Amino acid sequence: MSLDSIDRVAVLGAGNMGHGITEVTAMAGYDVTMRDIKDEFVEDGYESIKWSLQKLEEKELIDESADEVLSRIDITTDLEEAVGDADLVIEAAPEDLDLKHDIFTSLEEFTSEDTLLATNTSSLPISDVAEAVDTPERVLGLHFFNPPVKMDLVEVIYGQDTSDEAAEVGYEWVKSIDKTPIYVRKDVRGFVVNTIVGPFGDEASWMVSNGEATIREVDATMVHERGYPMGPFELADLSGIDIGYHVRKEAGQPVPPIIEEKVENNELGQKTGKGFYDYEDGDGADYQPEDTGDFDWLRVEARMINAAASLVGDGVAKPEEVDTGVQLGLGFPEGICRRADKIGIDEVLEKLETLSEETGSDRFDPHPYLEQLVEEGKTGEDAGAGFYDYGDDELGPYHDLNYELEDGVLQVELDRPSRMNALSNDLLGEIDDLFSSVDTDEVRCATIEGAGDRAFCAGADVSGFSDAGPTDLMDVTPAFETVNDFERPVIAKIDGFCLGGGLELALACDLRVATDRSSFGAPEINLGLIPGGGGTQRLTRILGETRAKELVLRGNHIDADRAEEWGLINRSVERDEFDDTVGEFVSDLAGGPPIGLKIAKKVMNEGEDASMEAALAMESQGFGLLTSTEDVLEGTAAFAEDREPEFEGK
Ligand code: NAD
Repeated sequence: MSLDSIDRVAVLGAGNMGHGITEVTAMAGYDVTMRDIKDEFVEDGYESIKWSLQKLEEKELIDESADEVLSRIDITTDLEEAVGDADLVIEAAPEDLDLKHDIFTSLEEFTSEDTLLATNTSSLPISDVAEAVDTPERVLGLHFFNPPVKMDLVEVIYGQDTSDEAAEVGYEWVKSIDKTPIYVRKDVRGFVVNTIVGPFGDEASWMVSNGEATIREVDATMVHERGYPMGPFELADLSGIDIGYHVRKEAGQPVPPIIEEKVENNELGQKTGKGFYDYEDGDGADYQPEDTGDFDWLRVEARMINAAASLVGDGVAKPEEVDTGVQLGLGFPEGICRRADKIGIDEVLEKLETLSEETGSDRFDPHPYLEQLVEEGKTGEDAGAGFYDYGDDELGPYHDLNYELEDGVLQVELDRPSRMNALSNDLLGEIDDLFSSVDTDEVRCATIEGAGDRAFCAGADVSGFSDAGPTDLMDVTPAFETVNDFERPVIAKIDGFCLGGGLELALACDLRVATDRSSFGAPEINLGLIPGGGGTQRLTRILGETRAKELVLRGNHIDADRAEEWGLINRSVERDEFDDTVGEFVSDLAGGPPIGLKIAKKVMNEGEDASMEAALAMESQGFGLLTSTEDVLEGTAAFAEDREPEFEGK
């Protein structure tokens, strides 16, 4: 069994999840058969895929036509036909163990022993599903999130008997369809993501049930002060209050009275028109920033952190995996382990111990791993270690960006795709740290791009700044200046939105190459602000006052073609030519003379702020300095010999 042996995939179920999984599988180039029990169900699923692919084609989010992707999808109601020659089967039928048992029993009959069998179950143990087969080592969980086309995360779950080989092939396959896998190494209820989000809603519900907080207070605080994309009650209304109710019942956990009450009254959230908020006669989740009050958010976060400690301590997932899970699966502004390290694990532990004593409830019992961290002095970032180790790596560790340094090219990726790579304080700090600490002798040129397929960087992440005021929020300049002053050329590789602080970061780079679907803008004025990371000045220098003022004062977007015409970017290219075009820029810069490039960049940047006379003096000084370098000898010799020069930066 290996990734290479996976050609054909079968998806069982054409409902919400099944059709989405089929779509992403076909988009990645696999042949896939989607099976449901009735013609009308498979046909409906197929129509949904077609509609979605057409939208993606219109928005140029796929490189081929919708029809080409559709040509790889077959539909059927015949199970044997669907799975007979499949190398991977993903079951996405209703959440009913008996039904899944029936399906897996048939799979044993109709598939060869090499076929990987996956279930997309959200709440059933993988080991229970696998009971139906004699070969449980090839059964694993592949837990996609809804909707699969948009959600990047897939949990790859081990059942009790799942072989490493099966899990690894599943993991690699998820990567091959351009999704982000995380391992869930033990078959725990809720896997990783739901284990963390459970207490988010649970603790909030107990506090409201006990009269210790109001619904609006909770939601407003968690969103406006703590940066979560939704409040716990708003989230419960969206996913269905009955879902959380049943999960607790199945797990034998006590149900907070307000949840019990809502379920009794059939007020289940958006789907019934009413839940914690009123969606029919009211304005829905209408909490406001001023509703925050003095809600004790640490009580909620301490329980989530305790849940994270159970996952890490019990060997279910590593801190990085937990954090990737909550960021991609739930849109959290930062990982929960990372947040714990910032709060201080000793403070979290103390909170849990106090609550445990005060209430006598076992839901606050600290997990031994949390106690162990504190005993070992690993109380978080300030102590140099917590869930993460902060001392060892020469660079980093970085949470919000990835980098790779290969053959002299420093490739940097802003990695907050769930927030369109918006700039958080952490991300800015990491950009600053990387560009000021990397050994420039090892680097010939750098590129910066955004993770995911929506944005280079959509601006400053206001929610991530918690309760910071606008003046704190604007302290983006040091990171941008570090990029601007970096001794090697930096290319902004822009695909998608490049707005606000994201535009300013791109402006701090030396060159900008973008896909033609990208859009650019300085929308700060719409918030009553102005660009605060050099935008007003660099735009004027790069575009001239007329065009710069149009961007800054009107605050609207321009497309890549206009950006190219205006000289805001060097090239606007079609998406399928993007990597090649950037590759050509990189190849010229990485092969160029390092000292020559450094001096050229410096003289041009600094010359802009000087008088012509002073700038010319800088230039001739730089010129003089270069004449004595070995690179110049090499450059002139290569020119005379009609060969490519090999510069060494000496
Ligand atoms: P759904 O009800 O939208 O779709 C299920 C489909 O399976 C239906 O079309 C049904 O006709 C079909 N079906 C029934 N018996 C079948 C059989 N024997 N073979 C093939 N198809 C059969 O449900 P869904 O939301 O797509 O959920 C499917 C699975 O995915 C469940 O296990 C669920 O827990 C899990 N899941 C759901 C979500 C979510 O947010 N909806 C997220 C992650 C995982």
